[in-house]
Amino acid sequence: MRGLIRAIVDTAALRHNLGRVRAVAPASHVMAVIKANAYGHGLVPAAKALAETDGYAVARLEEGLALRAAGLTNRLLLLEGVFSPAQLEAAAEHRFDLMVHSPEQLAMLEGRAGSQPVSAWIKVDTGMNRLGFRVEDFAAAYERLCRIPNVQPAPTLVTHLACADDRRDPKTALQVRAFGAATEGLPGARSIANSAALLACPETRGDWVRPGLVLYGVSPFPSGTGAELGLRPVMTLQSEVIAVKAVRAGETVGYGGAWRAARDTRMAVVGAGYGDGYPRSLPSGAPVLVNGRRAPLIGRVSMDMVTVDVTDLTGVATGDPVVLWGEGVPVEEIARQAGTIPYELICGVSQRVQHELR
Ligand SMILES: *Cc1c(COP(=O)(O)O)cnc(C)c1O
Repeated sequence: MRGLIRAIVDTAALRHNLGRVRAVAPASHVMAVIKANAYGHGLVPAAKALAETDGYAVARLEEGLALRAAGLTNRLLLLEGVFSPAQLEAAAEHRFDLMVHSPEQLAMLEGRAGSQPVSAWIKVDTGMNRLGFRVEDFAAAYERLCRIPNVQPAPTLVTHLACADDRRDPKTALQVRAFGAATEGLPGARSIANSAALLACPETRGDWVRPGLVLYGVSPFPSGTGAELGLRPVMTLQSEVIAVKAVRAGETVGYGGAWRAARDTRMAVVGAGYGDGYPRSLPSGAPVLVNGRRAPLIGRVSMDMVTVDVTDLTGVATGDPVVLWGEGVPVEEIARQAGTIPYELICGVSQRVQHELR
């Protein structure tokens, strides 16, 4: 039976967006980032739709195992590597590529019992100050990695950018320069670019790009939408009108009486709330699409419901479709109004939301 609220996933749009990435970076291989349940789109279905990629990247071992269990044999990178010897053996057995970013991981590889060769990516911290070997420690870490038996030669050289979504931020150029200096003369492929860098900084494209957000059709920049970048939004979060009511001028709606009717108002109650991952921080006035037409939210977002002013729309009835984000209400716009980023919204679609492939 069809659920009340659904995340409709447009698999043709996923393929289109991968094609956009290839067109922008024709000389690079693509590591499609599908961590966090493919940014909320469904790990295995998204991976299958993106089967033409050169590899998949995930954050956790379990995500990789789920992909292998689904029969996907593509190259697969664990973006944070492994966190225990048991994970290391499982990763080697399933032929996962491993990010190596810490002395603990080097020690784990050195002390390893298994003999299956491992393909490693080594991360330089050029200023993100999260994971990776600091520039001054990198040469020693690299040499140590290259001495380990059963680690394939010429590991891929990686860094991650902190400010690529701001085209004017000078930090990106500094990071690119630091990466170039740290890795100068070393064999091995290079990988720097996430979605924002891939689009905004040609010099970061290198041998492997690591796009996540753009594959889902969403802009990584603080303004504008994916459509303006030639992308197609993949997810539509859709629900229904579950009641239509009259509210008199002067009455309030919802918790805290946070919204007061300035006029006699026709209101639709919609079956979507923060229990579905729809952000509670959205203010009155944020748009939803009722029957394909925009209408403003009124009052607070509840766990299972939101209320919408449909006075200016004719003929709204129970059962009418409502788009919370997707075509016509870009998730970028909803994120801005909610004071967050689209990443958080699409990743945060909750378990009770039914996924439906198109
Ligand atoms: C998540 C992640 C990416 C993808 O980032 P987007 O901004 O979604 O393109 C790339 N590289 C690393 C290391 C990541 O953790």
